[in-house]
Amino acid sequence: MNPAGIERLRSQGIRDERVLAAAAQLERASFVPEGLRREADEDRPLPIGHGQTISQPYVVAFMTEALGLEGGERVLEVGTGSGWQTALLALLAREVWSIEIIPELAARASLVLLGELLLGNVHLRVGDGSQGWPSEAPYNVILVAAAAGSVPQALIDQLADGGRMVIPVAVSAHEPQDLRVYLRRGADVLYRSLFPVLFVPLRTG
Ligand code: SAH
Repeated sequence: MNPAGIERLRSQGIRDERVLAAAAQLERASFVPEGLRREADEDRPLPIGHGQTISQPYVVAFMTEALGLEGGERVLEVGTGSGWQTALLALLAREVWSIEIIPELAARASLVLLGELLLGNVHLRVGDGSQGWPSEAPYNVILVAAAAGSVPQALIDQLADGGRMVIPVAVSAHEPQDLRVYLRRGADVLYRSLFPVLFVPLRTG
């Protein structure tokens, strides 16, 4: 993002300097369709085709900060979308596995993440991310970028002891979704609510 975009994130309360530095290193414009590049650094979601959106910069920065990444984590992301959040995770953690259900979006994200940015620690797959990516589990961190009615059990099962998962949960059809962070402590899974959000629904099948 440009310096004005980074300053706006600071004024909105983002404090983690590693998150701000990673956001500054990435051009959000690379992840949006050509016709929208001039608007890329504005603080709102933008359409990326197939009825999906690239998330609002503040929400992505906030979710990333909530993950508390220190650099050594194995991360699972559900909903690659444009790949912008994926790139941030790749700069802040050790290794990222990201699943996208729409093949065309996965292909575009792959071009940017692997073809242009050469992020060697990113692994992409097309499929239903609500099943997770069992062969690489467990993950220290799971980030879900689409709203589920309830947290998929497969994702809880693939969360490491001491791990954290950020996920928007659709508590009712008439209210905004509840962005939550789940913590696993042995067999116990606890969550706290962060704030109300509006994400696209998590698809299944
Ligand atoms: N952080 C991304 C968010 C994209 S929107 C960005 O900023 O670009 C959420 C994405 O989740 C969409 O691309 C949608 O296609 C994808 N998605 C929805 N359900 C999914 C599922 N079950 N598995 C994997 N991806 C899914």
